[in-house]
Amino acid sequence: MWPVCDDAGAHEPWNLTIPAALHRRREILATAGARESLPGGDFLTAQERAELDAADALDLDDLVDDPIPLVPVAQLYRQDIPDYAGPDGTDLLQVLWCPVDHSDRHYSPRVFLYWRDSSAVGPLLEAPPEPPVISDMYLPVPCAVHPEQVREYQYADLLPEDLRERLHAWDDDEDESRPHYQSDLSLAPGWKVGGYANWSLTDPYPMDCAVCGTAMTLVFTVGSGDWNGMHCSWRPSEEDPTASPDTVGVQIGRGYALYIFRCPESFEHPPATAMQ
Ligand SMILES: [Zn+2]
Ligand SMILES: [Zn+2]
Repeated sequence: MWPVCDDAGAHEPWNLTIPAALHRRREILATAGARESLPGGDFLTAQERAELDAADALDLDDLVDDPIPLVPVAQLYRQDIPDYAGPDGTDLLQVLWCPVDHSDRHYSPRVFLYWRDSSAVGPLLEAPPEPPVISDMYLPVPCAVHPEQVREYQYADLLPEDLRERLHAWDDDEDESRPHYQSDLSLAPGWKVGGYANWSLTDPYPMDCAVCGTAMTLVFTVGSGDWNGMHCSWRPSEEDPTASPDTVGVQIGRGYALYIFRCPESFEHPPATAMQ
């Protein structure tokens, strides 16, 4: 049975679309971006614009009242992921989410984690069931991952005070050409396993397990892009410098990240998320 989210009471009707319309929108925008500009300088043809307007006009609000099949977000094998953590006997972490805003999740998707033994997974579906409705920000473009292990350091405000002060003195510099602790040296932006959260939106707050109260650890991060603007210091060296950092097509809030935490006491305890 494919998992569904039946928490309809928490579903919010923001940015709704249907998967087919989002696929078509991506196709139209990719085509438009790749061609010579049109006569008159328009980005889209009249027909393309009409197609997008028709999709925008769909009334989908009632569909969030039904159970929504979860959307696959990431599939991570122990053999590929140096920081993989999971119950004994598992070698696969599957991250899925309910692809609409949840009022009880700070208006972000509700995340589900499944640890599996890949050798015990039965017959595979040709394609996962398509949700009847999604937020246009929460349907990842399928892609392969090429994990690269990097050393991260804790968010500065969560370091011991003496270290924080020394860091602040070292970092207190208007010089934009030199690397900075937070943006360049400590916390990799974008999609990642493990590491630390960048709490720069709200400042840090406790992430404690809802079941046992234990402080949770970061297990997976969903990014709105894979590296950031200013110095692009986290762009993989093999990446074309003109390439977009947004290969996955997911947006969290206004370009934020969704940090997914797990309980270190038990993999059975539910995950929690923070949007930063
Ligand atoms: Zn849901
Ligand atoms: Zn717990």
